[in-house]
Amino acid sequence: NFAERSEEQVSGAKVIAQALKTQDVEYIFGIVGIPVTEIAIAAQQLGIKYIGMRNEQAACYAASAIGYLTGRPGVCLVVSGPGLIHALGGMANANMNCWPLLMIGGSSERNQETMGAFQEFPQVEACRLYTKFSARPSSIEAIPFVIEKAVRTSIYGRPGACYVDIPADFVNLQVNVNSLKYTECCMSPPISMAETSAVRMAASVIRNAKQPLLIIGKGAAYAHAEENIKKLVEQYKLPFLPTPMGKGVVPDNHPNCVGAARSRALQFADVIVLFGARLNWILHFGLPPRYQPDVKFIQVDICAEELGNNVKPTVTLLGDVSAVSKQLLEELDKTSWEYPPESKWWKTLREKMKSNEAASKELASKKSLPMNYYTVFYHVQEQLPRDCFVVSEGANTMDIGRTVLQNYLPRHRLDAGTFGTMGVGLGFAIAAAMVAKDRHPGQRVICVEGDSAFGFSGMEVETICRYNLPIILLVVNNNGIYQGFDMDAWKETLKFQDPTAVVPPMCLLPNSHYEQIMTAFGGKGYFVETPEELQKSLRQSLADTSKPSLINIMIEPQATRKAQDFHWLTRSNM
Ligand code: ADP
Ligand code: MG
Repeated sequence: NFAERSEEQVSGAKVIAQALKTQDVEYIFGIVGIPVTEIAIAAQQLGIKYIGMRNEQAACYAASAIGYLTGRPGVCLVVSGPGLIHALGGMANANMNCWPLLMIGGSSERNQETMGAFQEFPQVEACRLYTKFSARPSSIEAIPFVIEKAVRTSIYGRPGACYVDIPADFVNLQVNVNSLKYTECCMSPPISMAETSAVRMAASVIRNAKQPLLIIGKGAAYAHAEENIKKLVEQYKLPFLPTPMGKGVVPDNHPNCVGAARSRALQFADVIVLFGARLNWILHFGLPPRYQPDVKFIQVDICAEELGNNVKPTVTLLGDVSAVSKQLLEELDKTSWEYPPESKWWKTLREKMKSNEAASKELASKKSLPMNYYTVFYHVQEQLPRDCFVVSEGANTMDIGRTVLQNYLPRHRLDAGTFGTMGVGLGFAIAAAMVAKDRHPGQRVICVEGDSAFGFSGMEVETICRYNLPIILLVVNNNGIYQGFDMDAWKETLKFQDPTAVVPPMCLLPNSHYEQIMTAFGGKGYFVETPEELQKSLRQSLADTSKPSLINIMIEPQATRKAQDFHWLTRSNM
């Protein structure tokens, strides 16, 4: 019997699948082909969910969103050469967002290397720029070890993308099972805490603040810091501002949320505590005129190299956001201090919030057709279920949508993110729908896309329909990038013999029926031009959990956002 078993052979594909299973990988997104098809089949046989996508880039976006939403990396499986290269955008996006991701790329056969093999490309080197770790196992026996290392590296310290290269000849090679040893599942990341003296100093700076502000970033969402941060906000009566994906860590409708007075809050705060948010373009680098020149920053981050970027922080708290917020709570608890709710600062913020909200409400109430962004989003917000995932991208669509569409739960907003990536929406929505199905049954995914943004990964509608994911896609359609032409203006361009000479680069074909892409695959499609049609189609889409839908919402092609206090850098007014 022993002798018999020692003869048992197993393919490289099965070894890879088993190694992924051992590391608790739940989802693989990819496109099969030579040489990775067998890997996908072997993974499915072990109970790993395989979602076949239509473009590697979208597959990679989906896998990276799994990492953000679950804290364990999703896998992106791609073929050699062009397959891997298509996925680089997704890897870069994951790495920029600090999201875990495991990319597995097939590559050409080792014994044909440098000979001009099929789809040969220096993949390990190519991925280095987009990852924390990029390697090729030296043998099939080394695969489980390298996969464990990649999974661990993706989630330990600052999360990020990792790449494992699988030469084609590994996939079907048979090895003796006795020669294999599966490295155990890597443990959850160790929790690091800030130095006690730094925590004490931070508490003292907060207690002495005249105009304090907490900024909640997606690092706080990723760290599941919601409970401790909510306590900090409520116990000490502090104003807070979420970054785009920090929305929902504390609900947007919380009375202490000053999102509607964002510019004011940033500009006049004298003490700012950053919970997992970098002082990059999204936060205007922490510099004047967006901030006071002498504002005191307290930075909470898991990544030491991040501390001190662009500003000289007053206190740095190196550690896990959730653990460090608990440390802060305990330290602040030692006195009976709370920030006075009747302060002048609160009064200023409340007034500004009121006037900003009134300005958007006025725009939303405009009855003229075509609709403007605010009208659209107010009607969507009215019906949006509180627990839904909101995925969003596009320029104005995302920026304006964010100010109107509310998040009440952490890790329920996904958007263009740190890298400002367009094309992420459908992949993110597919990942969110998988997570909803498996972890939050009943929660819906609403994907709010600009018409241009939708185009980048539009064929993933077929993926959505194939797996029958009840995603609701809203295409906010202004016939273009930033702005487009209406039919009359468009017809003028048709008078010219060569449209490439006159059609403005921002223009897309007016009145495109994007909803027909959905109906082509069996989902529900709606073309809407009025608030009533929008309300009705959204109500029907929300009621129907049996299939996906796409609502193509025609808006004023020249519609923009309301006037901003800061005209410079408006694109970064996130
Ligand atoms: P946002 O876009 O919301 O401003 P960023 O992506 O700029 O957020 O910043 C997120 C930060 O959170 C990164 O600097 C990252 O190192 C940090 N981070 C990620 N996970 C944790 C964690 N568990 N604890 C503390 N910081 C974290
Ligand atoms: Mg547009």
